[in-house]
Amino acid sequence: MATMIAARLHAYGQPMTLDRIDVPEPRPTDVLVEVKACGVVPNLARVVSNFFGMLTPDNKMMPPLPAIFGLDPAGVVAKVGDQVWQVRAGERVYVNPARSCGSCRMCRSGQAYDCPSWTLQGYFGRSQEIMRAYPYGGLAQFITAPATALVKLPDSVSFEAAARLGYFGTAYAAMKKIGVGPGQTLLINGISGQLGLNAAQLALAMGATKILGTGRNAALLDRVKKLAPERIEVLSVPNAPSQSSPASGGGQGGGSGPAQPDPLVVWARTLTDGYGVDGMIDCLPPGAPASAMMRALYCLRRGGRAVNVGAVMETLPINAFWLMTNRIGLQGSVWFTTGEGEDMVAMAAAGTLDLSVLEHRVAPLSQVNEALAGMDNRDGGFTNFVIDPTRAD
Ligand SMILES: [Zn+2]
Repeated sequence: MATMIAARLHAYGQPMTLDRIDVPEPRPTDVLVEVKACGVVPNLARVVSNFFGMLTPDNKMMPPLPAIFGLDPAGVVAKVGDQVWQVRAGERVYVNPARSCGSCRMCRSGQAYDCPSWTLQGYFGRSQEIMRAYPYGGLAQFITAPATALVKLPDSVSFEAAARLGYFGTAYAAMKKIGVGPGQTLLINGISGQLGLNAAQLALAMGATKILGTGRNAALLDRVKKLAPERIEVLSVPNAPSQSSPASGGGQGGGSGPAQPDPLVVWARTLTDGYGVDGMIDCLPPGAPASAMMRALYCLRRGGRAVNVGAVMETLPINAFWLMTNRIGLQGSVWFTTGEGEDMVAMAAAGTLDLSVLEHRVAPLSQVNEALAGMDNRDGGFTNFVIDPTRAD
């Protein structure tokens, strides 16, 4: 039996250890992928500290230990199951980690993302069975995955860039839901972080006419604007105002106390002929207050739509009357489909999606604990943290 090195977590809050384990055999509809790069997200540090496990009393969201984490693997197909016909050994792929049961009402009707068992391989999710069936995250030299999860990579998309597809895809699926496209204006709340920067790159590719972005760090915001100075406008919003009233944005009803016009709302309207933006994607980081998301919502025009992929955990003070009278849409979005992954790499291959702005910071598997501990040291969304499991040194 061939063996491989995997970074495994044996106890929450403890460092991962490099263990030698058997290389798995792919089941009939699965493939075996040799991992060349795996994206590491800052949130993984919270995951391996059991932050999300503790949100549920029975710890059912987390994989059984020892666990192999790693959300965004890209690599080369090493072997295919005997019922895999359109994928061959040697092909370069990204593995979409989204898993669903395949046989519930939602899966059978083509809405696998609403499967009650929906789970992210190498991360956490809603099904212990799926986590046991696909226990290999990308922080290992080989993983198995369903053939249906593979995004085939064109030669022009590097493994390191592909390891960023989780952020890109999360932004892409969200922006499709609110109709980001030609002629549309968009506000990206938190444009200089990982999600926000990727949202900006995609919005440019998707044809959004004007992209407004908020952030805290003025130097990072300047770098984002340089991606397309004619189409991107940025505003530094270091401190969210304490009040968050629809009246501050000129909306109707529900205002509490004397409302001062929010400079952010004034700015957004000034740049959109007074209307407000067509769409808003919230990409705020963990710990951001509800008020920071509310003021971005107030930048929407009448009939505008917002989608949330950010990490605000506070309860939003939404005035239902304001929502109704202004015909505002607000929805959540999680991850992306393999088809949406195919869209994005096709855009990258065509040159409409520019991946060159990412700065890859690649570490060997043996440095995974150090990499996780050092993720606060980054140039906003420009830094792309990658583990290369082919280097176990
Ligand atoms: Zn299902």
